[in-house]
Amino acid sequence: MTTTIMWFRQDLRLADNAAFAEAARRGPVVPVFILDQTNADVRTPGAASRWWLHHALSALSERLGGLVLLRGDPAQMLPALAREIGAEAILWNRCYEPGAVKRDAAIKAGLAGGGIQARSFNGALLHEPWEIRTGGGGPFKVYTPFWRAARALPIAAPVRAVKFELARLPESDRLASWGLTPRSPNWAAGWEHLWTPGEAGAARRLKKFLSDGLRGYPENRDRPAIDGTSRLSPHLHWGEISPRQIWAATQSAVEREPELARDAEKFLSEIGWREFAHHLLFHFPAAAQKNWRASFDAYPWRDAPADLKAWQRGLTGYPLVDAGMRELWATGYMHNRVRMVAASFLTKHLRIDWRKGEAWFWDTLLDADMANNVAGWQWVAGSGADAAPYFRIFNPAEQARKFDPDFAYVRKWVPELDTPAYPRPMVEHAEARRAALAGYEKVRAAGG
Ligand code: FAD
Repeated sequence: MTTTIMWFRQDLRLADNAAFAEAARRGPVVPVFILDQTNADVRTPGAASRWWLHHALSALSERLGGLVLLRGDPAQMLPALAREIGAEAILWNRCYEPGAVKRDAAIKAGLAGGGIQARSFNGALLHEPWEIRTGGGGPFKVYTPFWRAARALPIAAPVRAVKFELARLPESDRLASWGLTPRSPNWAAGWEHLWTPGEAGAARRLKKFLSDGLRGYPENRDRPAIDGTSRLSPHLHWGEISPRQIWAATQSAVEREPELARDAEKFLSEIGWREFAHHLLFHFPAAAQKNWRASFDAYPWRDAPADLKAWQRGLTGYPLVDAGMRELWATGYMHNRVRMVAASFLTKHLRIDWRKGEAWFWDTLLDADMANNVAGWQWVAGSGADAAPYFRIFNPAEQARKFDPDFAYVRKWVPELDTPAYPRPMVEHAEARRAALAGYEKVRAAGG
């Protein structure tokens, strides 16, 4: 029986965790999480995400009966830890952000050179990004054929939670010393009533969604006033639940009630968008920072800090945009329909670079996820793979009438709506649209 290090990263669960199951099978386990703030290639989680991480680590540690917390460069800390405790192997589940891919490959090579076995597993996706290929053998750039190809492959059943033995654990940081949660001001006050980070909270969320939310999901998911989506996104980002578990549980729900098949198909197709976003980021890593379509480098973005601030604070004078930005600040979450409208407003009405919006979302979203966030922003901005056609510019007032017809969502977040305290629209829609299209002419001239 040899001791194995289980390196937890974005897979903060025990069930359906391939790396953890293998570590437990081998013998005593030393579970470790490393806060990697030294590596310039690896993006540090934003403020909201750090709040989640704090609670997720606390939940994981409780479930395991102990978790070693270290802060620093994993490339140095992992071999040192292995030497200290005499571990022969280090196991982990793969991440797909470009910086993590690069870092992990270097760590693997370094460990092998030092005689320590290093093995990685799939813990975050239905299929690895390299398992899905076009007829020509390359990556997909369009969602519909991607998802068709993904659906045609068998999906492995989740790995059951395993019995494990915890080894004697070496010294660990105290979680509180990491300062992941805000103090003064505590902008996350009350969030513990809205969210339950951790594996048990994720399982409860899925169960509740499948029993109360799946029926009617295709229609309800577009109505921000309705609690019509799963809100599993932060749990998925930190791997407190896996897409395979979601897949299996959704299939079981349909077996019990076959009339839910259409609703389930739509829900799983959203999990498919997550898969597609990870597929894109893995195959086109430069798109994390650069326009996926290079012609968008010619777009004349405005440098307008005051306008950016008005958008961030929900003071644009467009109620649906403002409601979304305030929901985001107050709860760490924004409804998907409203994300699209708010992102469109920033990039098209204000002509501010999508990267500025992406950075704000990164800092304020509890579900901030590089693959999904970049894909979402580039899709809305028009610069992405399989993006919305540029000329289809959302009219925020029309979107509000269509998706929040009785203004329940808008009134909840913008209570001063009908009073003189509410600002006038900062730009006029038709004028903004004309200016956005004029800017797009430069993109067209650069190749479209
Ligand atoms: P549900 O409708 O219940 O969907 C189930 C799951 O499918 C989600 O939890 C999510 O993992 C996945 N999913 C759903 N829609 C999408 C989508 N469009 N793209 C990729 N995956 C999707 N999602 C994030 O997880 N992190 C982000 O940082 C993020 N940034 C976004 C930025 C913009 C500009 C836009 C337009 C969308 C962004 N999304 C992001 C996608 C989407 O808005 C959220 O995943 C969704 O709102 C989460 O709520 P839910 O879990 O209730 O979704």
